[in-house]
Amino acid sequence: MRYSQLLIPTVKEVPAEAEITSHKLMIRAGLIRKVASGTYTYLPLGWRTLKKIIQIVREEMDRAGAQESIVPCLQPLELWQQTGRDQDYGETMFRIIDRHGRGNVLGPTAEEVFTFHAAAEINSYKQLPVNLYQITPKFRDEFRPRFGVLRSREFIMKDAYSFDADAESLHRSYMAMYDAYCRVFKRCGVEYVIVEAETGEMGGSGSHQFTIPCESGEDTIVYTADGSYAANLEKAAVDPLPKEPAPGAIPPAEDVFTPNVGTIEAVCGFLKTQSREMIKTLIFDARGEAVAALVRGDHELNPEKLTQALGGAHIELASPEVIERVTGAKVGFAGPVGLASRVSKLVIDHAVAGMAVGVTGANKTDYHTRNVVPGRDFLLEGDNVIVDDIRLAQPGDTRNGVPLLFKRGIEVGQVFKLGTKYSKKLGANFKDESGELHPCLMGCYGIGINRIMASAVELYNDENGIIWPITIAPFEAIVTPVNQDDPDVVRVAQEIYQKLQEAGVEVLLDDRDLRGGIKFKDADLIGIPIRVTVGKKSVVEGNVEVKRRADAQSQKVPIDQAPGKVVELIDRLKERVRV
Ligand code: ATP
Ligand code: MG
Repeated sequence: MRYSQLLIPTVKEVPAEAEITSHKLMIRAGLIRKVASGTYTYLPLGWRTLKKIIQIVREEMDRAGAQESIVPCLQPLELWQQTGRDQDYGETMFRIIDRHGRGNVLGPTAEEVFTFHAAAEINSYKQLPVNLYQITPKFRDEFRPRFGVLRSREFIMKDAYSFDADAESLHRSYMAMYDAYCRVFKRCGVEYVIVEAETGEMGGSGSHQFTIPCESGEDTIVYTADGSYAANLEKAAVDPLPKEPAPGAIPPAEDVFTPNVGTIEAVCGFLKTQSREMIKTLIFDARGEAVAALVRGDHELNPEKLTQALGGAHIELASPEVIERVTGAKVGFAGPVGLASRVSKLVIDHAVAGMAVGVTGANKTDYHTRNVVPGRDFLLEGDNVIVDDIRLAQPGDTRNGVPLLFKRGIEVGQVFKLGTKYSKKLGANFKDESGELHPCLMGCYGIGINRIMASAVELYNDENGIIWPITIAPFEAIVTPVNQDDPDVVRVAQEIYQKLQEAGVEVLLDDRDLRGGIKFKDADLIGIPIRVTVGKKSVVEGNVEVKRRADAQSQKVPIDQAPGKVVELIDRLKERVRV
């Protein structure tokens, strides 16, 4: 393609809201433009890259035996009500009332619709296993759209749904997708790590997340240096802390007047204690039922772990009214003593159970209780008492005795074993060999197409711009004639361009009537992996310069050998990401 005929609006300035490198560079390189909060247009160059990623994903899905299909983005709200996920997604789901007053949603994902089809079309074990996928826009009214296309309100997701007859078969389907994902990310040329993930409100029994390690990521990867463990922060399990030895006989619990000190820091300051000696009591609303959770003052509750401890229940922090009703005190003075009988579940973190003595809220406005002994002043067992790991891992924690390390990452894909959560609710059953009905075992598998693109930019760039992996670069090579007014330069550039096209190289000819310096800047900014520079002096000498975007130095190559050299360099780059 000729540069002069393409719309590649590179710019120097970016809007202040572009905080991270990939967002800035994607705008500067003329790949994307914002339309409104969290919605973006892909301009020709950006769309070329996105299409390449889509193609790689499609090939790997097909190769793994999944079948491409497509369901509507506009979906009946009723289906989402049947699984209860209209509530789980809450305000994140776009809702539309149509002219007949019917509720619709713009699909944030498509478990419901695919399961609805499975219910209608699958009757017999003979039709299983089956895996259907689509690559379509998804819509989420994110609370805070940010980082350009990384967290947007409309994005392209590849989502696949597998239906199997038994657990073994589900595991095979799951692993086929897991392997396909490894191939996708390798072929896209992006570094990635696989971590264990929480199944959250998807329900189900197992999940892995594919994450691109980089500082600007919103996810935290928790791992051990010996490679024995890697999970995301929501999932990361911690070893229970050793039980604290009791400091001699502990006097009875006693209430102390702590006027207007509700926060952990304020209480610590007031009572001259440390946060690790405090017991934090948090009250949640689990679909109308009050649940209390206890964590040590220096720890943070992990809502995902709490959800799992409660068997996958949807939870939200309780409103001040509910907190006051349950504790009999204003917000800030909740405590575990006598609380179990007032909530449907009391969930106690391991570390709290291991404390010798602590300070807590007194369930009385403006009072705290000290000398509270877990097991003495509140029970650690009982019908509605659960002791579990419900806190976030933090530096200093271990897993199987090995210290946990932390780094940031971008989630680009996730695979889930869903089990029968959706098939039961939507009646996706099959008859086995003896004619008995069973719900299908399901898995679901998502990849954020736009996130792969932005992560690649986030990973591979320098002060001059993007350095695309060869397989997802909008063009593989660019031919840059430096002196557009010199007929020999123009002719040689044109010849090399034509030969490269004949050799099947995706090549751009920068035929703009501009100074060489500007052309170099643009070529670097848009990140084309290989550049052939044709200048007046070198043409006289019979050479051109060939340079890889990632290298500082170029090499002189005789004009007639230039196309061959470019092909060789491209092959070498492709070799690195071959699967
Ligand atoms: P996150 O935790 O980042 O909000 P998620 O876990 O809710 O993501 P999934 O439901 O697992 O996302 O969706 C599958 C994939 O879709 C994700 O792995 C991610 O790559 C992509 N994705 C999700 N939300 C967005 C978004 N708002 N913008 C762009 N891509 C997204
Ligand atoms: Mg996810």
